Amino acid sequence: MSFEKASVRDAALPGRRVFVRVDFNVPLADGEVADDTRIRAALPTIELLRERGAAVVLASHLGRPKVQPEPALSLAPVGRRLGELLGVEVKQAPAVVGGEVELLARGLGPGDLLLLENTRFEPGETKNDPKLAEAMAELADLYVNDAFGAAHRAHASTVGVANQLPGYAGLLLQREVEELTKVVESPERPLVVVLGGAKVSDKVGVIDRFLEVADQILIGGAMCFSFFRAQGVATGDSLVEEKGVELAAEALERAKGSDCELELPVDLVLGRSFDAETERREQDCVEVAGGWMGLDVGPRTSARYAKAIAGAGTVLWNGPMGAFELEPFAAGTRAVAEAVAAAPGTTVVGGGDSVAAVNQFGFDDRVDWVSTGGGASLELLEGKKLPGVEALLDKTTVEEAPHA
Ligand code: ADP
Ligand code: MG
Repeated sequence: MSFEKASVRDAALPGRRVFVRVDFNVPLADGEVADDTRIRAALPTIELLRERGAAVVLASHLGRPKVQPEPALSLAPVGRRLGELLGVEVKQAPAVVGGEVELLARGLGPGDLLLLENTRFEPGETKNDPKLAEAMAELADLYVNDAFGAAHRAHASTVGVANQLPGYAGLLLQREVEELTKVVESPERPLVVVLGGAKVSDKVGVIDRFLEVADQILIGGAMCFSFFRAQGVATGDSLVEEKGVELAAEALERAKGSDCELELPVDLVLGRSFDAETERREQDCVEVAGGWMGLDVGPRTSARYAKAIAGAGTVLWNGPMGAFELEPFAAGTRAVAEAVAAAPGTTVVGGGDSVAAVNQFGFDDRVDWVSTGGGASLELLEGKKLPGVEALLDKTTVEEAPHA
């Protein structure tokens, strides 16, 4: 399947003002950007726009402001970092929309950059308020969405404004959709999917989909305890998501009738509590006694999963194998990250915490595609349409559209 939306590459850009929705929802520490991965990921689109003589108005959300505006969630540190990365001035707007912002936008020349304030400083953003979308559309002639990480949300800056202006896909958004779609629709086989993390309910849609298309699903993380509970295996004080148990039982049932193998851990690393200093114990079985919680998969599980990953044509990994933030319980996640990095097949990692793990262990350069979208990547993999993508012009309309 080829990408069916109009690309920013096909837009007539010289002299145009372009509203670009990016995903600059980055972690901050002490008023500075703590990890600029998402800012770097948007640079190719921004550079293309500048090279082709467009004036660029950038918009992003950052965190979840409780009051609007919340100064600690200003995009100012992001603007500074972006300016450093590009080596040019990034003008900063005092708000998202309004008269003053319009003046700033109108004053932009070709190649100039204006960063709007946090879109969530506007209460209409998450409600997809048409008035806010109209005010955003006042700022530009064209719309580009490069915020893959926000494409699963129908907000004013991801959908509303795309209904007001001709909308194009940014380079990152397009690549994300292409890479993730390929995993589901035309993977090199065998397709091995490694799933972990905290909740089955977050990922049950993905499990269902991959029971149909994958050759193997390897389960780790706290998620495995919902499966063990469903099988009647004792889970002690492990984190078990109650509503996940029923979902896990259904998945186990469906797995029986499918060609896909669903694998669970065979050994565990236990602790007394979720704490790096806690008493730690490795055990070569999966029954967890009272007073203990499973915090990582054991070495035999890691070795089995690593072997499956090494033999895969395609590997998709989403969700850590254990509480990898705690060093004594990071080994399973590290082993999977290492196996993914070394795998000869095509490798794709998605999910905020799994991507953080890959970065933390220094394997990001050896993974074929590291997705910037957590929720968006899961929804796409489940087979859902992403509203932020759907709202863009179709490729076919662009060939004849007057604005193209
Ligand atoms: P991702 O962001 O990659 O999709 P999730 O958000 O689903 O992953 O899950 C990540 C979280 O799951 C991490 O904070 C990790 O500590 C936690 N986790 C993984 N395994 C366990 C476990 N056995 N017990 C408790 N927490 C766990
Ligand atoms: Mg997460």
